[in-house]
Amino acid sequence: MNIDNPWMTKFGALSPFKQVAIMVGMAVISSDILAVLGFYIVGLETPYRVAAVTTGIVVLVSLPLGAFLVALNFKLKQLAEQLDLESRKDDLTGLLNRAEFYLQTQRLFASSRPIDSAGALLYIDADHFKSINDRYGHAKGDDVIHELGRVIKSNIGERDLAARIGGEEFTVFLTDADLGRANWISHKILIAIRSISKELELDATPVTVSIGVALHTPGQSLEEALAVADKYLYSAKHQGRNRVVYG
Ligand code: GH3
Ligand code: MG
Ligand code: MG
Repeated sequence: MNIDNPWMTKFGALSPFKQVAIMVGMAVISSDILAVLGFYIVGLETPYRVAAVTTGIVVLVSLPLGAFLVALNFKLKQLAEQLDLESRKDDLTGLLNRAEFYLQTQRLFASSRPIDSAGALLYIDADHFKSINDRYGHAKGDDVIHELGRVIKSNIGERDLAARIGGEEFTVFLTDADLGRANWISHKILIAIRSISKELELDATPVTVSIGVALHTPGQSLEEALAVADKYLYSAKHQGRNRVVYG
């Protein structure tokens, strides 16, 4: 049953009282019509015939009503799931938002053995982003942020997490990665991002990022690991940007 049609939208906009009144009214009218038809066609002389006609009326009236309510319930569940999913995402890039990144990464930290590293954290910040906004406008800046998200996502694995945690700042958690893998993936991202400028026709301004990489140490909290990655990001900025710094 299609519940997206204009009639259903109008029906949904009515007050609950009106909705119930319409449903009861339609059920009464259709039951009465079927009862009169039953009287003339089958006859209601015996209790069996009354029972047969009543059963027919109940089935014919309750079936479409039941199907409508089940379809409505299904649609509401779908909408609730969609809203739940979207509330966890950053709407510009489709990556996780800050809160969801913290939640999922902390869950991974908690599930790793206390003597093991859970993986590696990347802190990524676009270089001289203000000048991109100033030169090409905020909308183009948003396009760049969208592309940064796409490039980051396409260079990490299925088990890794990526988030946009601020304006032009991203974090990545590489599950079970050692420093070698983290360094390799960071450089892949760094190099892939360099082609964004050409794709978006920003020839006068290169799009680059700086990346700080920290290996999670056993027992370390997410905040502590992020602070270390942020410290290396700061070093990358000070060493001239467009580079990866790790430790
Ligand atoms: P740096 O190399 O030191 O990082 O220089 P920067 O210009 O990138 O400086 P910073 O990271 O401090 O500034 C980020 C700028 O990003 C500031 C703001 O104008 C811009 N910005 C933040 N959020 C958005 C957004 O959602 N869309 C756009 N287009 N720009 C944003
Ligand atoms: Mg920034
Ligand atoms: Mg920046």
